[in-house]
Amino acid sequence: MLIPVLLTILAVGGCTMSQPLTGTIVDLTYPFDEHTVYWPKNEPFHWEKTSWGPTQTGYWYASAVYSASEHGGTHLDAPIHFAESGWSVDEIPVDQLTGEAIVLDIRAQVGSNPDYTLQVDDIAQWEISHGPIPPKAIVLLYTGFGQYWPDKPRYLGSSTPDDATTLHFPGFSAEAATFLIAKRDILGIGIDTASIDAGQSRDFPVHQILGRANRYALENVAHLRRLPPKGARITALPMKIQGGTGGPARIIATVP
Ligand SMILES: [Zn+2]
Repeated sequence: MLIPVLLTILAVGGCTMSQPLTGTIVDLTYPFDEHTVYWPKNEPFHWEKTSWGPTQTGYWYASAVYSASEHGGTHLDAPIHFAESGWSVDEIPVDQLTGEAIVLDIRAQVGSNPDYTLQVDDIAQWEISHGPIPPKAIVLLYTGFGQYWPDKPRYLGSSTPDDATTLHFPGFSAEAATFLIAKRDILGIGIDTASIDAGQSRDFPVHQILGRANRYALENVAHLRRLPPKGARITALPMKIQGGTGGPARIIATVP
């Protein structure tokens, strides 16, 4: 009777497993190098070869060291970044780091106003076209600013990009973030700019609202033009820094 039992276990296991990944896999991650954009005054990415070449006994050996701020390049903001009791990056359950990508395209609004923030009405318009935002979604804001990466003055919207008070780029509004958390069922949000709060924000309300709700954010998400408005599945895996407020993340999407 061993074989039928095994088959039963396999069948049950097959039913409980998530859908197999089918479709085109897209990398939504910028490389980390000396050009990677970091927030003003943050330590940039540093990478240095410590060994690089043939050893005396003839085999190849290469190794390097790196250091950087948690919040630069393609990365995840953990809830604790703006909420004392929020999860640190290692505490986010791994099943919450993957979900259906909902892409809100606000390039038209941003074209006439680089300080534009996503409005609740923009979400309503998206739902008229595509239906309700599904549960456990990851809502991505497609502003078009990714076209400027890694030109720091253009990407951060300032000729003085090391002065955080002079930045101009779009983001979420506090009202839109509150709506997504209170009225929809989202795992997190993401954006193709340096921050989910717009460049002219002073007290980062979207970060505060998100952190208090124990939700995460993805920033500097690359190549959002390659995603459809809905139906892609994204997975964002940040470095598991114990107690970390965030960390560099490899983000991929499976586009059906
Ligand atoms: Zn961050």
